Amino acid sequence: MITAREVIQKKRDRETLSPEEISSFIRGYMSAQITDYQVAAWLMAVYLNGMTIDETLALTREMRDSGTVLDLSSIPGRKVDKHSTGGVGDKTSMMVVPIAAACGVTVPMITGRALGHTGGTLDKLESIEGFNAKPSPKKILQILKNTGAVIMGQTDDLAPADRRIYALRDVTSTVESIPLITASILSKKLAEGIDGLVMDVKNGSGAFMSTLDRATALSRSIVHVCRAMKTKIVVVITDMEQPLGRAIGNALEIRECIEFLNGRTPADLETVTITLAAHMIMLGGRARSIDHASKLAHEAVSKGEAAGRFRQIIRAQGGDEHVMDDFDLLPSAENTRDLRAPLSGFVTRCDAKLLGMASNTLGAGRNRVDDSIDPAVGLYLEKKAGDRVIKGEVLCRIHWNEEHRLNSALPLIEEAYEIRPRPARRRPLILGILKG
Ligand code: URA
Repeated sequence: MITAREVIQKKRDRETLSPEEISSFIRGYMSAQITDYQVAAWLMAVYLNGMTIDETLALTREMRDSGTVLDLSSIPGRKVDKHSTGGVGDKTSMMVVPIAAACGVTVPMITGRALGHTGGTLDKLESIEGFNAKPSPKKILQILKNTGAVIMGQTDDLAPADRRIYALRDVTSTVESIPLITASILSKKLAEGIDGLVMDVKNGSGAFMSTLDRATALSRSIVHVCRAMKTKIVVVITDMEQPLGRAIGNALEIRECIEFLNGRTPADLETVTITLAAHMIMLGGRARSIDHASKLAHEAVSKGEAAGRFRQIIRAQGGDEHVMDDFDLLPSAENTRDLRAPLSGFVTRCDAKLLGMASNTLGAGRNRVDDSIDPAVGLYLEKKAGDRVIKGEVLCRIHWNEEHRLNSALPLIEEAYEIRPRPARRRPLILGILKG
């Protein structure tokens, strides 16, 4: 049998590992026969020398099988989830889940928390009083049967190898590796027992993958692995050069979601949400064509069915559904401060990363996994790239609670905005779609 040292050496020397070698390495790590420092060295070798698709596939499979794989066979119909590589103001999960569920698709969504400049769906949902992101396995099945959807956090026994390996990647600067990201995301998603997955791969300043080439390479890697794992996949590459929608911050984003489901929405949010939801509806076998699926998604919103479904999901998970009618029930910051345009012209940049960092600085996000967050603070973008602005008009409303945080966030927000005499060329919101 190959030793850990030989596995590291092979990767270091750019050789290809067999599925058995990858399997014994990961199993050895999980059974404490292989140490953190050996895995850290191996991760750096993978980061530098990459992996073939077959190696990535073997790693994904082994990480998925390191814990429980959910069995949802008692629930009829296709189960489809959606996952995003993470962005700023990206609140689409809370809209696509009720839309797809209202169209008859079962959605067992497992989602995460904010980290770095990006937000997390669980933190946003927990700004609703009482919302329980960790229902018991019995309750999960019950909620899925009754409402068609559940939105929950990762359980300890779901792909535990990913949790340990991700922690090592975080401290060894090996996160930004396409095979490692592919295996990390898909090991968790495929452990949900789903039939189909819609991935939103973000591209732009606020995304993991800042160039389109890298976003496309990650998308291809995800498609290849899903295809080999016999799970239907659609990857939508979307813009994250500027935040999605206008709200950034937990309770502010929940409010924007509810407004969307009630029919009031910024156009960019609508385009991305309906595109993702339509692909979920297609993978769920509920539409004849993508145009038909988009029509169903639009109707679910316009007829109030998606809003009704979101209400049911909140109720089923212990949250106060009255937030749907009364935004005063959401946490709100004690103070607001307006950032005004220093000159007239067109907004040519509204930088996602800087605004994500500003929101984080206000207290909406976390730098370490165990940091606590302030659900009330954040930003509301009155102006975004492409908008005309007159000197003195509000660019951004800052919702803040602590003055020293406001003072640190302000320069980031000022730097995020650029105003020029002429508008910049608009970037498309949907940059590519890949299917497998
Ligand atoms: N999200 C994950 O779950 N894993 C990664 O490696 C990157 C983003």
